[in-house]
Amino acid sequence: MDFPILDTQVYNHRLVYLDNAATTQKPRAVIETLTNYYLTLNSNIHRGAHYLAAQATERYEGVRRQVQAFINARSSNEIVFTRGTTESINLVASSFGRGFLKAGDEVIVSGMEHHSNIVPWQLACELAGASLRVIPFSDEGVLDLEAYRSLFTARTRIVACTHVSNTLGTINPVKEIVDIAHSHGVPVLIDGAQAVAHMKVDVQQIGCDFYCFSGHKMYAPMGVGVMYGREELLSQLPPYQGGGEMIKDVTFERTTYNELPFRFEAGTPSVGDVLGLGAAIDFMQEQGIEHIAHHEDELLHYATERLLTVPGMRLFGTAPHKAGVISFLIGEAHPYDVGTLLDKLGVAVRTGHHCTQPIMDRYGIPGTVRASFACYTTHDDVDALVAALNRIAPMLT
Ligand code: PLP
Repeated sequence: MDFPILDTQVYNHRLVYLDNAATTQKPRAVIETLTNYYLTLNSNIHRGAHYLAAQATERYEGVRRQVQAFINARSSNEIVFTRGTTESINLVASSFGRGFLKAGDEVIVSGMEHHSNIVPWQLACELAGASLRVIPFSDEGVLDLEAYRSLFTARTRIVACTHVSNTLGTINPVKEIVDIAHSHGVPVLIDGAQAVAHMKVDVQQIGCDFYCFSGHKMYAPMGVGVMYGREELLSQLPPYQGGGEMIKDVTFERTTYNELPFRFEAGTPSVGDVLGLGAAIDFMQEQGIEHIAHHEDELLHYATERLLTVPGMRLFGTAPHKAGVISFLIGEAHPYDVGTLLDKLGVAVRTGHHCTQPIMDRYGIPGTVRASFACYTTHDDVDALVAALNRIAPMLT
């Protein structure tokens, strides 16, 4: 595996990069795809009659089909390129809100959502006069499905839930969540930001209506993401942004809109980044997604066991089904202090609320230290984290 940035030295230490839930590093093949795009192919897509435009368009649309196969969507019309998970969720919340939410309606979200799967729904609810209902979770970080079942009313219009919690690591039973919602005739959006790089995702098997994710958390460049929408539902949503590409005909009296998926891709997209996403999917498939999942699962168990030997260790998120995300505190030490001391030893972790303030409120803590894994994370990296924590633990108490 070739990740040039991982050779970086930090304060005379080998970089131990454990902030993969925030963003993954990029393999050389992705960086080269991006560079080659600007060296040899740069052109605006779809509109041009010339060679470069045709080539760039073909490659861009090729990645759409690649994403379709990657998540097993029925049609490439169901794949909309966005800037990332945040934009994907805002697209759905805004369009669905305008199309289907009315005063008195209800939207169900879980208590472990990232702010980007809470705030867009709050905005949509505010506009419509609708309200949010929240699925609670246990101390271990497991969603309470009985409570979830009891949240449905005749006014429930949509459910939005994360596949994997970026703070607790919990892998939620998304198929069951979808089946319960569908039994009430309610569609479901799944936030896949923390799932796609770590496990095989099959949107038809899950049965969800929308599935959103970011390229940069799966070895692709920043600036590109995906909104999968089931064609039947997507075709009923009003447009999100207006502009070039999303229209068929424009007059001052009346505008008609383009077909799917272009109707939701107003303006010039980030073509080079989309090609980079294609290279990242190639990279993951070469590694083998099952292999990556197995490797990270083994590391999770190894790291959890080793971390529990550190004096004062408090883990947050101990669900039986977890991805490679470990949130912790050391005694009463502030997470920021722990993170800063780890950084001086070359260990990069994230500290704070991880854009999940309701989770912090649930546990009554200001934040956590979070170590998160990727396919290139090694046992040595885990050992370096544990050694660094043992070294700084006496300074923290
Ligand atoms: N949802 C989850 C679960 C996340 O972990 C993140 C990012 O950390 C997001 C959404 C937002 O992703 P982005 O900032 O790439 O739009």
